[in-house]
Amino acid sequence: MSSPFEKRGQGKSTTAVHAGELATTLGEVHTPIYQTSTFYFPTEDPTTWQGNVPDGAYIYTRYGNPTIKAVEDKLAALEGAERGMVFSSGMAAITATLLTFLSKGDHLVSVEDVYGGTYAFLRKELPRFGIDVTMVSSTDLDALERAITPRTKLIYLESPTNPLLKLVDIKAAAEIARVKGIRSLIDSTFATPINTNPIELGIDLVCHSCTKYLNGHSDLIAGAVVGGKADIEAIGSLRIQYGGSLDPLGAFLLSRGMKTLDLRMERHNRNGMETARFLEKHPKVEGVHYPGLESHPQHFLAKRQMHGYGGMVSFEVKGGREAAEKALRSFKLIKKATSLGGVDSLVSMPLNSSHKSLPPQERARLGIKDGLIRLSLGVEDLEDLKADLDQALG
Ligand code: PLP
Repeated sequence: MSSPFEKRGQGKSTTAVHAGELATTLGEVHTPIYQTSTFYFPTEDPTTWQGNVPDGAYIYTRYGNPTIKAVEDKLAALEGAERGMVFSSGMAAITATLLTFLSKGDHLVSVEDVYGGTYAFLRKELPRFGIDVTMVSSTDLDALERAITPRTKLIYLESPTNPLLKLVDIKAAAEIARVKGIRSLIDSTFATPINTNPIELGIDLVCHSCTKYLNGHSDLIAGAVVGGKADIEAIGSLRIQYGGSLDPLGAFLLSRGMKTLDLRMERHNRNGMETARFLEKHPKVEGVHYPGLESHPQHFLAKRQMHGYGGMVSFEVKGGREAAEKALRSFKLIKKATSLGGVDSLVSMPLNSSHKSLPPQERARLGIKDGLIRLSLGVEDLEDLKADLDQALG
């Protein structure tokens, strides 16, 4: 697949380093932290107090701030979108986006393998507002199309999925939405703009938990959505009202993290691929889920829509839950912790973390076995990661 960055005339690392950076007359190389909650009112005209503020003027940091705008522009450039908007968490970005385009009486079609927090919001919160939700298998686009009704206002996707790394055929799903005149939104957290470019594939809105790969150092909670200018400005109005703005220091940290996104993803992709191959041959392992493996049922699709396959690998241990829990206790280098996408490798079991609240039959229906282990491979040396896995698996 040809890189969209080539079409834009700049490489992805160059974009990650330079896009969005503020150019003030002081000549700073990195956008500084505008650590201020408010700004001098931009004009003496008393009508501005009614909201008639000149374009680009800053008023109050919950509405906008130069450090925040800089990182929004960087992310928009990386995703090839017109506009970006950052939030205080991935969930703040997702919920503000959903509530911008859904009102009482509307209908949403979503794939079922979505992040647990999103799942709870779709299942429990949206119905409280009179919004109906239909969930379909992530890999069944016919079901997705069949679920659309005249009341459907949004299609919600996530790819690759957690924890089984299933893929949604993004281009085909976007086309279904386009033909029906419905907005499409994808959570592209696992993919990052380095590995997949949903806008290029026809998606309208892309959201991220920037807490993960985009920031990349497991030291920040942040979220984002990118898309067309009008849509993002509409979402921005709700950000102001619901209050999920990111703070300037958070925006600075995110921007600093994003400068090395492409570099880090190179290593995450390599560690992911090589670890998946290593586990596939390991005598204590029953099955490995990784889109880069030829054995992945959607490997062909992965090659078509991904530039790299990421650092997330899940696998089943022989001996089921007991053996997996034993392995989990034995990791030394790889840390037992939830979350993903940072430079430190992390390990968890979906059974007693992300998918704990699901009844066993629901987990089984989704294909999540009790002995499943999820790895978020960081940027450590591959040989050290393999050695830790080997000793933990006994
Ligand atoms: N989307 C995905 C795929 C996630 O994994 C997560 C968090 O784990 C979120 C969204 C929510 O992000 P945050 O924790 O930044 O609110």
